[in-house]
Amino acid sequence: MKNEDLIKRDLEHIWHPCTQMKDHESLPLIPIKEGRGVYLYDFEKNRYLDAISSWWVNIFGHSNEYINSKIKEQVEKLEHVIFAGFTHEPIVRLSERLVKITPKGLNKCFFADNGSSAIEVAIKMSFHYHKNRGKIKPFFLSLTNSYHGETLGALAVGDVGLYKDTYKEILIKTIQTPVPKDESLESAKEALIEFEKTVEKYEEKISAFIFEPLVQCAGYMHMYHPYFLKEAYKICKERDIHLIADEIAVGFGRSGEMFACDIAGISPDFMALSKALTGGYLPLSVVLTTDEVYQAFYCDYLEMKAFLHSHSYTGNPLACSAANAVLDIFEKEKILEKNREKSKYIYEKLQKFKELPNVKEIRQRGMIAAVELKGYDFKERVNLKIFKFATKNEVLLRPLGHVIYFMPPYIIKKDEIDKMIDIAYEAVKSLL
Ligand SMILES: *Cc1c(COP(=O)(O)O)cnc(C)c1O
Repeated sequence: MKNEDLIKRDLEHIWHPCTQMKDHESLPLIPIKEGRGVYLYDFEKNRYLDAISSWWVNIFGHSNEYINSKIKEQVEKLEHVIFAGFTHEPIVRLSERLVKITPKGLNKCFFADNGSSAIEVAIKMSFHYHKNRGKIKPFFLSLTNSYHGETLGALAVGDVGLYKDTYKEILIKTIQTPVPKDESLESAKEALIEFEKTVEKYEEKISAFIFEPLVQCAGYMHMYHPYFLKEAYKICKERDIHLIADEIAVGFGRSGEMFACDIAGISPDFMALSKALTGGYLPLSVVLTTDEVYQAFYCDYLEMKAFLHSHSYTGNPLACSAANAVLDIFEKEKILEKNREKSKYIYEKLQKFKELPNVKEIRQRGMIAAVELKGYDFKERVNLKIFKFATKNEVLLRPLGHVIYFMPPYIIKKDEIDKMIDIAYEAVKSLL
């Protein structure tokens, strides 16, 4: 098999996500034959260092031996079973472990099979909770520049125009309040003034405040100070407004702690997890919530009060076995500690970008680092130029507009970090 054969057959029948398909007239698709560790390999022995963890999901490398073995074990026992009226061991064990590692008070797990669906679950559940308690609260509050997925409910609470604007006529009404404009404490305080005003204006009507804690990843890796969340938490708590923490991208160590909410020291009413949950192996997501929320649905009949949201593949045992394997690795290998050293090294390496006249800012939080460029119009498609340069040099980078970012698998080694950042540096330099 050659790259070319597969590309031709692909374009005959496949429509890819997040892609202007016409771009593939000049930009060839990259068919991947296999993956090992941080590298992906095509059919012609080219390799690509996966600096973006294949859309932020892969934390322990491709074809990880341990995770492979656990999925193989599970597939010999049970591939799937209906999750209404039935249960299985991998999901019970996984839920016990998730409750243990997430912030205090999150005691109940509701499963779905992708991040956007987890967001749908959380917003429906929050609205439904208030309704079961006799209050109709049709609004959701979120931050400007936020991203929560691309199903209609998730799009509605998000605020990245690129994905949302086209569909504005068919989205539920939501309210956006400004995200702190940078990582400083001052900006957090400024944003809180607006936050409080907005909350006061709509108070009775807001079911929940939904946010990406500390880093808005799809929102161009925008970062803000944890103080904002600490205070926003108090404001919501005083007013019967739920907090929905979308940790889909930042959860499982990406922020530097296991969960970004740990850094802010808050315990939300709902926490949505997906992406790294299965180490990038299989689709799975979960919404954790409190006993209080659970109790509002607990009664003698099904109609109206019970939460009837369901997906065919809810709680898939293979996905759960991968997730359990991921948690085993976290327990056995001091991942967070090792990541701290790696992020420090990444931080040091990034400093040289400051020499370049087309670099505006460098940002970092844990295992997320970003270099923002300046002086480019979006029509210049700087992201495509960087992507092309990097793939030619064995690194997979996929800039968001003019923000180049690094979210590598945690198993990345020092020389691989060197390569990832040096190639990015050369790519940015090549634009000059
Ligand atoms: C990726 C992402 C989602 C959506 O998850 P999908 O599995 O892609 O539907 C939601 N929220 C955040 C913060 C994300 O990064």
